Amino acid sequence: MIIVLKRHSSDTDIATVSDMVTSLRYQPRVIRGTEQTVVACIGDELSHQSLEVLRNLPAVESVFPVQKKFKLVSREYHPEDSAVKVRGIPIGGGNLEVIAGPCAIESYDQFRTAVRDLKDCGVRIFRAMPFKPRTSPYDFQGLKQDGLQIMRDVKAEFDVAMVSEVPGPDKIEPLLELADMFQIGARNAQNYDLLEQIAKVGKPVLLKRGLASTVEEWLTAAEYLIVNNCPDVILCERGLRSFDTSTRNLLDLGAVAVAKQLSHLPVIVDPSHAAGARLLVPALARAGIAVGADGLIVEAHPNPINAFSDAAQQLETGRFRDFMDDIRPWIELARRECAVPNPA
Ligand code: PEP
Ligand code: MN
Repeated sequence: MIIVLKRHSSDTDIATVSDMVTSLRYQPRVIRGTEQTVVACIGDELSHQSLEVLRNLPAVESVFPVQKKFKLVSREYHPEDSAVKVRGIPIGGGNLEVIAGPCAIESYDQFRTAVRDLKDCGVRIFRAMPFKPRTSPYDFQGLKQDGLQIMRDVKAEFDVAMVSEVPGPDKIEPLLELADMFQIGARNAQNYDLLEQIAKVGKPVLLKRGLASTVEEWLTAAEYLIVNNCPDVILCERGLRSFDTSTRNLLDLGAVAVAKQLSHLPVIVDPSHAAGARLLVPALARAGIAVGADGLIVEAHPNPINAFSDAAQQLETGRFRDFMDDIRPWIELARRECAVPNPA
């Protein structure tokens, strides 16, 4: 932490601040300028009280951290792009992947048809959601146990990778043998207890950005995963709550670029929950790829009109090839860009 004192602070002010730093068990290093004095503090904030309390001293102008709140996530720590493997399929580091599947598992026929259709279009990682955290307790909550059985049966038949949302710590265990990657949804993006528990399981995690999280909060949530021994984290931008309701959420493409700049982790885009409307999904998907995303996660259903949840935004699995054809030129262009070595 760096403490900046007010202009022309007296020796007594400096001594008061230094004494308080020492009493909080940090070592103060005083740097005197002609007008302003700065106190650099050495110590570990994890185990004891934060120096933020020094803001309350009248002689203190500002207190700010030297280190970012996220370290292991940052490019300073790992300059190259990381690729995360989901059942052997790499995402990131020049590998763009389109993950797809229905919002929720609704029945054996619905899920099986979705996986069959999407696999035919080249999809290799599937959304498989037996549990659905919903804003309203009166909305469809997923088939739960029955959904797990459907997931098990369909996975056994098609032998494909699946990503599944874990709404709470008690759902980790039931999904453990079935999910190849866990999803932390937007509503749980700052549920640190869940992040810590899921990190310990040893599977890749797809971390959605919270409905109103800053990029720093998003990356710091990812830090919780990595610091708890889960190196395989994929960030997912899914749109923010905004004043404008013309899309369901405001897809923050700038944040994708910022996250890619600050972090080595793969970043993917969810155009479905951002758009909220089927017709807008291809445009947002293309935009996500163009801004540098390492992949997409797209909702698709065999009969979207009758979907139990998110009916307006799901693409039709039987027509998913059109979507893939639409985004292919952008994917090819992005792959070529990734293949060009950075000028030193
Ligand atoms: C989802 O992916 O099914 C979902 C609920 O998304 P989000 O958490 O981004 O709202
Ligand atoms: Mn959904």
